[in-house]
Amino acid sequence: MKAAALNRVQVHQGSLLLVNRNHPLQCTIPPEQIRPLEHSTVSLERKTALVLETLLSTIGSGSSIVPVSGFRTHKEQEEIYASSLRDHGEVFTRNYVALPGCSEHETGLAIDLALNREPVDFIRPYFPEDGICGRFRSKAASYGFIQRYPKGKESLTGIAPEPWHFRYVGLPHASIMNSHGFCLEEYLDYLMQFPYEGHHLEVRIENKSFEIFYLKAEDDVTRLTLPGYLPYQVSGDNREGFIFTLWR
Ligand SMILES: [Zn+2]
Repeated sequence: MKAAALNRVQVHQGSLLLVNRNHPLQCTIPPEQIRPLEHSTVSLERKTALVLETLLSTIGSGSSIVPVSGFRTHKEQEEIYASSLRDHGEVFTRNYVALPGCSEHETGLAIDLALNREPVDFIRPYFPEDGICGRFRSKAASYGFIQRYPKGKESLTGIAPEPWHFRYVGLPHASIMNSHGFCLEEYLDYLMQFPYEGHHLEVRIENKSFEIFYLKAEDDVTRLTLPGYLPYQVSGDNREGFIFTLWR
């Protein structure tokens, strides 16, 4: 067994962060963890950028899919919110633009994509279900990406359906969410049924086995022991705890 210790601040870091109007971002991602995508001025968190580039190259998208918006600073989100209010009014803005501090784009884990066809709409890019965009959708989950704001989940996400907005949550989480039809809010609630002290979630995806559990954070340092021989990842949920993912 090996001992692990997590600081309280880590609740607000990692690829499973829940960021919405009830859960504002608490930590700013350090600039060295952000980089531009290849042939683009759009930036993302480093691992998210690499996985997205790999996915786009796997489906042979070439220049037919373009990144429209990725990482935004808090100030940029404020400017987008203000200009949308000015140009499109309050109802549209509330539906499609997250409040500054509550936008996934400030995490570096979210990307808006468009089919490369003029004109590209910055707020609501065109990303259809078929063709190359359909190919992207069919592979996204196996690379750790989810469509973050699906139709039918508006009451949970607080955002209108956005077929162009993808969020990196990592593996195997995107695949599990897809197979259950969970949005991120539902998935994080679901994972709380698998606490550290109890029965863990065990899943097998593409010949790989994973064990997942939830651990509530202590006020200061949270300690636990893990099987020493297994690689694992940990992410905060930006609420009260941590999600551990063990590769079996
Ligand atoms: Zn977006």
